[in-house]
Amino acid sequence: MKRIAILGSTGSVGTQALEVVAAHPDLFEVEVLTANSNAALLIEQARKFKPNAIVVTDESKYKEVKDALMMLPIKVFAGQQALVDVVKWEGIDVVLGAILGFAGLRSIISAIEAGKTIALANKETLVVAGELVMKLAEEKRVNIIPVDSEHSAIFQCLIGEDLNKVEKLILTASGGPFLGRKSNYLVNVKASHALQHPNWSMGAKISIDSATLMNKGLEVIEAKWLFGMKNEQIDVIIHSQSIVHSMVQFVDGSIKSQMGLPDMKLPIQYALAFPHRIQNNYKRLDFKDFPKLTFEPPDYKTFRNLAIAKEAMFRGGNAPCVLNAANEMVVHAFLQNKVGFLEMSDMIEKTLECVTFIEHPTLDDYQNTDTEARTYAAEFIKKSQLSIY
Ligand code: NDP
Repeated sequence: MKRIAILGSTGSVGTQALEVVAAHPDLFEVEVLTANSNAALLIEQARKFKPNAIVVTDESKYKEVKDALMMLPIKVFAGQQALVDVVKWEGIDVVLGAILGFAGLRSIISAIEAGKTIALANKETLVVAGELVMKLAEEKRVNIIPVDSEHSAIFQCLIGEDLNKVEKLILTASGGPFLGRKSNYLVNVKASHALQHPNWSMGAKISIDSATLMNKGLEVIEAKWLFGMKNEQIDVIIHSQSIVHSMVQFVDGSIKSQMGLPDMKLPIQYALAFPHRIQNNYKRLDFKDFPKLTFEPPDYKTFRNLAIAKEAMFRGGNAPCVLNAANEMVVHAFLQNKVGFLEMSDMIEKTLECVTFIEHPTLDDYQNTDTEARTYAAEFIKKSQLSIY
């Protein structure tokens, strides 16, 4: 029986993780659930899964949650610090990091410090502070098991292999809803359109990141840290069917891939159950339904975010932290129709030019960088034509 803390239980990954847990009551038990402000869903989840504790980080929701659960033996906490504290509890075996964005960083660091196994969905943790986080995990002998489907695929391909015999990692990308489109089309697309991912059902922010290919850029940086690769060892290939979840090429030219239907419950289940593989009744991949699997290079000129993310990775230091903060800001603005689709790349690039470069950042430096980048990005967003009118 593994006792699990699900950080971000009300999100897309969090709710699917609870489906996995519910399907295997003999293997998993919920110890902690957390949400930001979705009090109604958090209350419903707490009533169903009866965790030991829950955290609502938006403090204005505390009373509502506390009152609703008064009759149950569930501890209720509020605020960001509670999130950092609760992951250290003795009763927790695995912490699933499924909070969105930079906000997920501190709780993951805290969980690693406490020696908890991490199932990591929150890619921003490694994008922002990969070097620091991986070093800490090594020091504390903590396993970080990826939940992102691409990284889960690579992780599975690497089992039993020598990391020194890896030539390169090949991350697959669906290409998102605008695959094949050019700038003259993209200039007018709106959030409602960009949110319609052809293969995956995900939260709003990652859906926009998939449409701009920033998601793949973030994943390249995530893979670098997670698997200890050099920048040049990570390739991206567009595979619009999302069946091959990613690949590893070895020094003898041999390539291993992991495949399956696009369903996040699979990598979530794999990460929670690791090192065991457990049975499920999810729909199986039938190759006859996919007679053609295609692969093509990404269009770096049109989808500039992928190129910008790779540049930030090569630059190193706090540049990926700036990239992430600017991206979180512009995606939020795009979702509110305050900036245009193509404008997002311009604003991220300009923010990267403005923020002070730090070659070897500390955790505090990352926090300050994040704040500085958000301030610049907010200025650029204000000046957008869409914000003005
Ligand atoms: P969602 O937006 O669906 O959910 C985010 C979760 O985080 C919610 O529980 C939300 O609470 C909580 N949250 C948001 N902001 C804060 C904050 N400031 N402090 C504390 N909690 C917060 O996101 P997804 O589930 O789509 O994604 C979560 C992470 O997993 C991201 O890093 C994403 O890149 C990654 N990921 C997602 C995949 C997917 O299929 N969705 C696939 C692979 C990776 P509330 O509901 O109350 O707002």
